[in-house]
This record gives sequence, structure tokens and C-alpha cells, in this order.
Amino acid sequence: MEIKKKIKQFLDEIEKNNKKGKAINAILEINKNAEKESGKGKLSGKVIAVKSNINVRGMKTSCASRTLENYKAGYDATVIKKIKEEGGIIIGMTNMDEFASGSSGETSYFGPTKNPAAIALIPGGSSSGSAAAVAAGFCDVSLGSDTGGSIRNPASHCDIIGVKPSYGLVSRYGLIDLSMSLDQIGPFAKTVHDAALLLEVIAGHDEKDSTTFNVKIPEYSKQIEKIPKSIKIGISKDFEELCQDKRINKLIEEAIERLCKEYGWQKKSVSLKYVDLAVQTYYPLCYVEFFSATRKFDGRRFGKKIEEVCGPEVLRRILGGSEISRAEFHGLYYRRALKVKELIKRDFEKAFKECDIIICPTVPKLPHKIGSKISAEEMYSYDAFTIPANLSGICALSIPCGKIDDVPVGMQIMASAFQETKMLQVARAFEKLTEK
Ligand code: GLN
Repeated sequence: MEIKKKIKQFLDEIEKNNKKGKAINAILEINKNAEKESGKGKLSGKVIAVKSNINVRGMKTSCASRTLENYKAGYDATVIKKIKEEGGIIIGMTNMDEFASGSSGETSYFGPTKNPAAIALIPGGSSSGSAAAVAAGFCDVSLGSDTGGSIRNPASHCDIIGVKPSYGLVSRYGLIDLSMSLDQIGPFAKTVHDAALLLEVIAGHDEKDSTTFNVKIPEYSKQIEKIPKSIKIGISKDFEELCQDKRINKLIEEAIERLCKEYGWQKKSVSLKYVDLAVQTYYPLCYVEFFSATRKFDGRRFGKKIEEVCGPEVLRRILGGSEISRAEFHGLYYRRALKVKELIKRDFEKAFKECDIIICPTVPKLPHKIGSKISAEEMYSYDAFTIPANLSGICALSIPCGKIDDVPVGMQIMASAFQETKMLQVARAFEKLTEK
């Protein structure tokens, strides 16, 4: 389709169902120049929405917070620069949990996002708007950020694909961080191909982000058509026991059986004995790094003083992070968390000696109704299965796996660091089965 016509269709759909109609509330700001743009490259013809914590020149990087409500980016993040160089068109900025702190999309200063795949329920978070925008047909693909699950979790609830790349594969230059030692930017898409394509464009070494590794980036979007001859799928009782909804386990088991039957792949039980500590390990690290990252929002240079205007979840993290950082707590929480992080990492390294990929549910329970009261612990437990990949720096994705009571369920595929090709090939092989 001609690109101008396509952009117009997306803009019409946004006009119809973002604020009005189904009121998905996925898009916070539209790029007024989108219709005038066109470009050549790998992404020509692709229309992209961007999470509001990634700098896009001239657009608002509000982090869905009152703190940065009117903050306009003065430069492009590296991922955006790369997208533009390959001819991608940015259609707008998406809604999210405030400062990427949340799992439900409900903590945005601009109101919650709805789930286009299950309208009364949360879309997941924190990249709620990026997932919902793809699911609602507001764009082709989108970018999110994932610190503990914020790409995979909403992908799972919204019935689309979401990829968290290995730590160090994608530059975070121009990302307003939640937790620098864990964050990665990654793609959302309706097909494995589109996710792979966007990933190959944004990946790669960047001198502006010293954590990026200098590895050769394969053409994932072409590689995915090869179906690996033999794959050992790691499955772990440790995930199974933690899963709060046994129906989810069953769906995943059936999917694994299908993969083994169709492709002659094998299953292998692996032990991941520390994954039950993942949530407890993640939060002290996240709180402390977030506290430190937010010190620049003191009202002098950017917007308003964060503590004075932020929502309760962001405040909880700032106060918690400040407490943990205080000298007397040294060694008690933060360092202990770093030690367990290392144990989880080693656990995965050991497991990946015995298998090629590990499969488990993306989220251990179904999403709740928007607005229902749940405790912080319940909210945090949404990420029990996604956090381990961030703690160990490996790559992981979520792919639609079926529905329970009409609610989408995602399957998580994890692979060793920088084994994106294998992970995406397995995802594509699974997608082929569901196309039948
Ligand atoms: N839900 C997790 C949190 O609240 C993860 C957030 C994220 O990945 N950005 O911190």
C-alpha cells in the first residue's frame, strides 16, 4: 500500500479509537509531520510508535509523568536515529506507567491504557501504550523498554510479540532510564518477521552507550525462516510451581508438545532453583538505581520536582531507594541483591549448557480488571517470570500462545545472551504452527 495512504489509515484509526470510541488511550502525542515523511531503507513503509521515555526530537518525552509533562526532546535517541536512517516513520509517542514503574499501565499521569484484546482488562505494563497501539492497529510496530518485563508482559496480555534483547545489544542512549543495569529497548510487532526487522535496525554498538557490545548483528528478519534441525527445549519445574494459574501452564505445555511433535525437537528438564527469588532481588536494585536516576529531576533543569508531583508508585520507589542507599543499610539489601543476581545468572548459564532455549509462561496469571485494587506485592508478582532474563542479561521474547476465557496468554522463549537468532527462529517456527 502506498505509505501516505497507510499513515492516513493509522491516523484515522487513532482519531476513532484512541481518545474516542474504544478510548484505548495508547497514544499521548501524534507526530504532526508523519504524513509528510517518507524514507528509503529497511523500514520504508513501516509506521512506528515510540514509548514516551525514548527521546524523539521535537516530541514529548514525558515518561507519562507530571514531572516531565511538557518536556520536549532536543535530540533523537540512537534507536530513533537508526529507525529514521532506515526510512521508518514515527507516528507518535505512547502511554506508559509513570517512569516505566508498573506492570499494568494504570500509573500513567494521563490515565490508564485499555487492552484492545480484552477491553475491560489491563494491557500490562509498563510499555502499555506501545503494546496496545500495535494491538489496536494504530501502527505497524512500536518500541518499548524492558527492565523487568515491561515489553514481554504487555505483549502477552495484548496478544502480540514483544522482544527484550540481550543486555548490551541495543543502545540506551536517549532512553530515560528506570534501572540502568537492567533496561533494554526492544520491539513490539504482530509478526515475528516485523519484530526481527525492527530489532536488526536498532541493534548494534554505540559509542554513546558504553554498555553496548561490539557484536556483528545478523539479519534476523532473513535468518528466522530457517527452522533449526535440532533444538533442546529447556523446561523447569521451578517456573511450573510458581505459576499461579495452572491453566496457563497447560497451554504452554501443549505448545511445547506441538513444537516437539512437528519439528522433532526434544524437551529437557533444567533446574533454576533461584528464580523464586527474582522479584525480591529485582526491587532493591531497581529502587536504588531509580532513586539515583531521578536526582536530576529536581525542578531546576527539567520540568517539576519529581517528589512533589509524581504518583504513589514512583514516590514509593524514590523513598525506598533513598532508604536502601543510606549508609547503614549498605550490604544489607543492595549488595545482597547483587549476589543473588549473580546466582540467578549462573543458574541460567548452567541451564543453557543443557538446552538451547528455555520456555515458560510470560506471566504467571491472567490480567486484572482496570481499576481493581491490588496490593504492591500482587502487582510485582506479574513479573516473576520475566525478571530473571533481565537479571541474567539474556534475551527473551513473548509470543501469543492461545487464550483462556478469551484472555490472551503469552509464551516466553529465552536464550543465552546474544542468541537472538536462535530465539527468533524458534518463535517463527511456532508462529508457523499457529498459522496453519
Ligand atoms: N513491572 C516492573 C517494574 O515495575 C518492570 C518495569 C519495567 O520493565 N520497566 O519495575
